[in-house]
Amino acid sequence: MTLVQFRNEPFTDFTQEDNRQAMLQSLERVGQQLGRTYPLVINGERITTEKLGTSINPGNVDQVIGLMSQADEALAEQAIASADAAFKTWAYVSPDTRAGYLFKAAAVMRRRKFDYCAWLVYEVGKNWAEADADVAEAIDFLEFYGREMLRLSGPQPLTPLPGEDNRLTYIPLGVGVVIPPWNFPLAIMAGMTCAALVAGNTVVLKPASASPVIAAKFVELMEEVGLPAGVINFIPGSGSEIGDYIVDHPRTRFVSFTGSRDVGLRINERIAKTQPGQIWMKRFIAEMGGKDGIVVDKSANLEEAAAAIVQSAFGFQGQKCSAGSRAIIHQDVYDDVLELIIAKTKLLQVGAADKNAAIGPVIDTNAYGKIREYIEIGKSEGRLVAGGDIAEGNGYFIQPTVFADVSPTARIMLEEIFGPVLAVCKADSFEHALDIFNNTEYGLTGAVFSHDREHLENARQRMHCGNLYFNRKCTGALVGVHPFGGFNMSGTDSKAGGRDYLLLFTQAKLVSEKW
Ligand code: NAP
Ligand code: MG
Repeated sequence: MTLVQFRNEPFTDFTQEDNRQAMLQSLERVGQQLGRTYPLVINGERITTEKLGTSINPGNVDQVIGLMSQADEALAEQAIASADAAFKTWAYVSPDTRAGYLFKAAAVMRRRKFDYCAWLVYEVGKNWAEADADVAEAIDFLEFYGREMLRLSGPQPLTPLPGEDNRLTYIPLGVGVVIPPWNFPLAIMAGMTCAALVAGNTVVLKPASASPVIAAKFVELMEEVGLPAGVINFIPGSGSEIGDYIVDHPRTRFVSFTGSRDVGLRINERIAKTQPGQIWMKRFIAEMGGKDGIVVDKSANLEEAAAAIVQSAFGFQGQKCSAGSRAIIHQDVYDDVLELIIAKTKLLQVGAADKNAAIGPVIDTNAYGKIREYIEIGKSEGRLVAGGDIAEGNGYFIQPTVFADVSPTARIMLEEIFGPVLAVCKADSFEHALDIFNNTEYGLTGAVFSHDREHLENARQRMHCGNLYFNRKCTGALVGVHPFGGFNMSGTDSKAGGRDYLLLFTQAKLVSEKW
C-alpha cells in the first residue's frame, strides 16, 4: 500500500462563502432526513425493536432527530455471539486489508463532511466549528489508526540470536465492548471502534443514548465501505439497562470506555470479577472526567490568557472532558485578567447551533438541571460576575457563567460540572497556583500562560495532568500531535491518537524457531 504521511484534516473556514453555502445546504439536506427510525445491526442483520428511544435536538426539543431501536439483554447476547463468531475470521484478515477499510471510510467521510457536521449540529447542539472539529478528528482517527496498524504489523526489533528466527507480532484480543460518550459522538465513537477493529478485534458498539443517530450514520458508512458483517455489532440501548450485561459477559475480552468517572469506576470493578466460563482477565481502557484548569502567571500575555480561558471554558458549552473550568490567576494580574474574562464572556451569544451561535444548548434535561444546581452552589461559593441564569430558546440554554474569588477547595473548583461554568481563583504566587491546579482527583488537561522560562520548566514537571499546554488553550488536542489521555480519576491515560494506543487493543506474541 502506498500512503502519504499522516497529516491532520484541515478545519473548515466558514467565513468563506462557498463553505458557508455548503454547510447551509447540508443542514437543509440532513434536515429533510430527521425523524427516521433506525435499527440495531447484529451480524449485518437490521433489527427494529418495538421499544424506541428518541434522540432530540437539545436546542429545539420538539425536533426529533431519530427514533432508535433499543437492545435488551437478549439482543445484547446476540450481538456478543455475533462478534465472537466474526472474530474467528476477522482476526486473520491481514492488517493492511483491515486498515484499508479505515482509509476508504476516511475518504468517504471527507467527501460528505458537511453532512456529518449537520448531523452533529442537530443531534448534540454543536456550532459549525465545533461540529467540523469533531468530523475532522474522526477522519484523523481513521487515517492515523490505519497507519498505526501497518506500522505494528511490520517487523518488530528484537535482539538477534544466531541460530534462531525470532518474530514478535501484535495479535488481537477478541470481542471488545465499546462504550462512547455523547460529547464527541462521532470522533470518539469512531476512534474507539476503529482502533479496536483495525487491530483485529470485533466490536459490540453501544452508543451514548443522547447521540445514537450519528453513530448509526457511522455504522452505515462502515457497511458501505464493505466491512464484513459481525465486525461491528451496533446495539443502542440504555447504559443502565444493558451496560452491566455486556461488561460482565464472559466472552467480552475488553471494554473500551469514554465517559464519566462514576460509570468508569463501576465498569472497572465489574470487569475484575471473573464470570463462570471466563478464561481471561478483561482489559479496561478508560477515559474519564476532568477538572481542567489554566494557570496565569504574572509574566503572561494577559489578553491571550483571557481569550484562551474563555475559549477553553465555553467551547461546546463547556461539555468537553478537556474544558478549562478553572482559571487560577496570580494575584498581581488577577483583577486585569478577570476583567478581560468578563468582557469576553459577555460578548458570547447564546442561541441555536444551526444558526451557528457561539454558545448552544447543553445536552439534555439532566445536564440542564445539574448545571443549574452547580450555578446555585457557585452563588454561595464565589462572586457571580457573568451569566448565572438560563437563556432563552426552545431548549437547554444556559448563559456562560463566571464565578470570581472562588476558594481552591470550593465544590465548583473540585467537581466536574460539564457545562458553561468557570470558577476563577486567586493565587499568592506561581508555586501556590500549581498547588491549586494539582488539588483535584482528576488530571486530564491543563495550561499555563507565562513568559518566565523557569516557571514553565517548573510547571512541566509539577503540573500533574496527561495533556499540559503552555501559552495556549487546554482544549483542542490534535490526533498524532497531542496524544490524549489523563491521570488519576481521568482514566487509564490511554493516549488516544498516539503511538501507544493500538497496543492496548492487542497482545504481543513471540514465535521462536530454532534453525
Ligand atoms: P456517561 O454518563 O458516563 O456515559 C458514557 C457512556 O456510558 C454512555 O454510552 C452511557 O450510556 C454508558 N453507560 C451508562 N451507564 C452504564 C453502565 N452501568 N454500564 C456501562 N455503560 C454505561 O458519560 P457522558 O455523560 O456520556 O459523557 C460525559 C463524561 O465523559 C464526562 O465526565 C467527560 O469528562 C467524559 N469524557 C472523557 C473524555 C476523555 O477522553 N477523558 C472524553 C469525552 C468525555 P447511556 O448514554 O445510555 O447512559
Ligand atoms: Mg440529542
